[in-house]
Amino acid sequence: MTHQTAHQNTVILPPAMLGMLGGGQLGRFFVIAAHEMGYKVTVLDPDANSPAGKIADAHICAAFDDKAALLKLANACAAISTEFENVPADSLSFLAQTKPVLPSAYSVAIAQHRVSEKNFLKHAGLPVAPYAVINEIDDLPDDASDIYPAILKVARFGYDGKGQTRVKDQHEAQLAFVAFEREECVLEKMLKLDYEVSVVLARDVRGNVATFPTAENSHLNGILDVSIVPARGSDTISHQAQKLAVMVAEKLAYTGVLGVEFFVCNGELLVNEMAPRPHNSGHYTIDACVTNQFEQQVRVMTGLPLGSARQHSPAVMVNLLGDIWPADDAAAPEWQLALNNPQLKLHMYGKHEARSGRKMGHFTMINVSRDEALKQAMQIRAELNIGD
Ligand code: ADP
Ligand code: MG
Repeated sequence: MTHQTAHQNTVILPPAMLGMLGGGQLGRFFVIAAHEMGYKVTVLDPDANSPAGKIADAHICAAFDDKAALLKLANACAAISTEFENVPADSLSFLAQTKPVLPSAYSVAIAQHRVSEKNFLKHAGLPVAPYAVINEIDDLPDDASDIYPAILKVARFGYDGKGQTRVKDQHEAQLAFVAFEREECVLEKMLKLDYEVSVVLARDVRGNVATFPTAENSHLNGILDVSIVPARGSDTISHQAQKLAVMVAEKLAYTGVLGVEFFVCNGELLVNEMAPRPHNSGHYTIDACVTNQFEQQVRVMTGLPLGSARQHSPAVMVNLLGDIWPADDAAAPEWQLALNNPQLKLHMYGKHEARSGRKMGHFTMINVSRDEALKQAMQIRAELNIGD
């Protein structure tokens, strides 16, 4: 990868302009981190009201494959990264012709397609759940297969549990495949999970890696709900997850911030999926680590050394979805309940409209004791009617 070595010794210092593909909350936190360090940011996103675009120094309001807009971004910025997993890999390659782009088009292309992702992980020797690649209806295994009950997942553009259906047999799988308009899918065995964990890491162009502590995650309707850090399970599992995440990054020759999700099943780790960007389960790093995942993203793309990933406080992060907004849209959840707590950090993403399943913000509860942080976080989570 020539572009990675080409700028390996060049450090981009403030007040340089950095480019961000995608204007969601991950991009917004990136803008905040970059601003703190004295950089400027140009965001490219088709939404005129995107959370990151609104606070960036410049917002190019255009599609992710708009060549003229990409050229404008490349001209304006010293280096470019992405917060949006589904940015066309071709757009990244195009930008990389003139400017450093992290992560590489290659890594993003693998991570954004469930089939290439699963195949990559399997061939890299990483443990994954049993799966079958489904291109046509005849690829669906019959009922004799021990893959059922299973989950059918579309290969592209799935997130937050979207583009997934649970199926108990071949017939249900056929109906689901047709409902997905026969798009390429992965059929994955439905596992009985002990729990789920994730690891966020940053890997720089020289191959240095800083790994954040392992988070324990629970999901509600396929969407991350709560992250507890450090994870409560065995330390062996937490360490092993970190080692596997580093293996993923190294096998991909990855540069940037990477989130790796794991299932713990019968006491064994399986890699679920990876995200070529900061990860929702890494939001606790904003309030609980020396360097947060967004500052690491800035550091990797500017060629600065990685910051310390040390966690200084146990933390519990709770996602705030649009579901907790009162139906009458003038009203908001009772933030007073949360803001009264002196150890709670509220982060709102500046989205106009609350919709069911939409990530509107999160809070992180900090404490010297993880169990106390969890107790208080769950109390406020219940008071805000999350999960009702
Ligand atoms: P997304 O891209 O939407 O995050 P995931 O594949 O991570 O998709 O699935 C979302 C959640 O659904 C997982 O975190 C897990 O809780 C549950 N899930 C997904 N696949 C399986 C499986 N094979 N067995 C059991 N639970 C699963
Ligand atoms: Mg996931």
